[in-house]
Amino acid sequence: MTSPSFADLGVSEPLRRALHTQRYINPTPIQAQAVPALLAGKDLLGVAQTGSGKTAAFALPILQRLAAQPLNPGPRRTRALILAPTRELAIQIGDDCKTYGRHLNLRYALIFGGVGQAPQVKAMAKGVDILVATPGRLLDLVSQDQVRLDKVSILVLDEADRMLDMGFMPDVRRIVSTLPRERQSLMFSATMPSDVAKIAADFLHQPVRVDVSPTTVTVDRVDQRVLFVAAPDKRAVLVDLLTDPALARVIVFTRTKHGANRLTQQLENAGVTARAIHGNKSQGARQQALESFRAGSARVLVATDIAARGIDVDGVTHVINYELPNVPESYVHRIGRTARAGASGIALSLCDPSERPLLREIEKLTCKAVAIDAAHPLANRTTHGSPAVARNPRPAGNSRRSNTKAQRRPAPRVVAAGGRHAG
Ligand code: AMP
Repeated sequence: MTSPSFADLGVSEPLRRALHTQRYINPTPIQAQAVPALLAGKDLLGVAQTGSGKTAAFALPILQRLAAQPLNPGPRRTRALILAPTRELAIQIGDDCKTYGRHLNLRYALIFGGVGQAPQVKAMAKGVDILVATPGRLLDLVSQDQVRLDKVSILVLDEADRMLDMGFMPDVRRIVSTLPRERQSLMFSATMPSDVAKIAADFLHQPVRVDVSPTTVTVDRVDQRVLFVAAPDKRAVLVDLLTDPALARVIVFTRTKHGANRLTQQLENAGVTARAIHGNKSQGARQQALESFRAGSARVLVATDIAARGIDVDGVTHVINYELPNVPESYVHRIGRTARAGASGIALSLCDPSERPLLREIEKLTCKAVAIDAAHPLANRTTHGSPAVARNPRPAGNSRRSNTKAQRRPAPRVVAAGGRHAG
């Protein structure tokens, strides 16, 4: 199965040119599902979180639709209104819109609290195409008649669950009540508690629903284990794990592009066929790496989180987190690579002491403790707060052979490991 291209989704050439510059090769799942519906003018309810590519999923169609019909809405007015809970998110969305729309001739404004209002009033004076705002300050400026919302034809509520948590919903409802009824409305939320579903029912008209939340189903299908290892031991542990043929098709995740390159080289030096895939590689190089991996001529694909979005390969036996992700949601996306098309797989995480808080965040998100794998000689059982007795001691591979293999490991290495751990 090949994923659609941005052109397949109907994204216009000037936007594709900007995406090319950003090195976006393939649409993320939410983009693939949302963009065509939004270009067709439909309302949308997106269950998605930061990291899914949701901003581009709504920004691209909005930019494209506005650019197709150039129009000045008039002084103090905007054609599209994007509401976000925080100033940081508003700024991020504004930056993304400008980046994607760099070859279009559109006007933008940002409105948020905590700073003087004069520049924001000035930015709105002649009218804009897209206004990104936090609710409180926007209402303030609306009540001063510095902003008028009577020409809004597209509304986006981003991170609706957070807006609810932060107590912004009364403000949001007041804002929405002043908008023209004839409009396209979009809402995004990471979670869909009943209060948020109610808001969606009130604001959206027969919305297309797109759900890319990392499902617990995926998590449940994956056999997850963590090996507590010292950072300098990670490479040796990885190479050693890869001596087990049960690890037939493996994606290894690193946090940085540089780390991915270095590890790929080290694996090759150790006799493991590996390719790297990350944002600094050209489209051709990424495609080639992916093809070798798909065809089985490379056994290991070393990837960063962003590059992994486009990886669509079935039959991945293991995902190895060489480094834990900073964002717990990325963990779920990563391990989902080995549970595609109903398959189940194994996810191993190499966790050094500094990464323990990240592991805790992951366990909090998935509501599930990751089983500790203490079978490997370099795996540390007793330090960093891990229980002396493993919660679920099992060998790292998925065959009985790997168990005996672990027991057969050469003694000198274990001694060396003990020496290193002693420090
Ligand atoms: P978001 O979920 O909108 O916060 O996006 C998360 C990150 O993914 C941002 O850094 C985007 O620049 C990046 N991103 C979004 N879409 C793509 C894509 N199709 N390919 C690669 N990176 C993307």
